[in-house]
Amino acid sequence: MKDRVLTLPDDELLFWNRVTVRLRREELPGKPERIVRCVTCGEKVFDAKDIMGEGDNAGPLCVSCAHGAYYQTGE
Ligand SMILES: [Zn+2]
Repeated sequence: MKDRVLTLPDDELLFWNRVTVRLRREELPGKPERIVRCVTCGEKVFDAKDIMGEGDNAGPLCVSCAHGAYYQTGE
């Protein structure tokens, strides 16, 4: 069976279907239209991916500063 998959013609293995993908303007590929700096770490944040901070962190924040990083630094 495994070898059969490797030899099947595309039209037996797959089907094709036209789809519509809705993207926001800032999700489109290409040159960023808006760049801001995170008020906490100074990292550049592109195209509306910043989160507006409040209080001591008032201003645009990167995702890591707003919600915490998905990684930990090594020591
Ligand atoms: Zn940041």
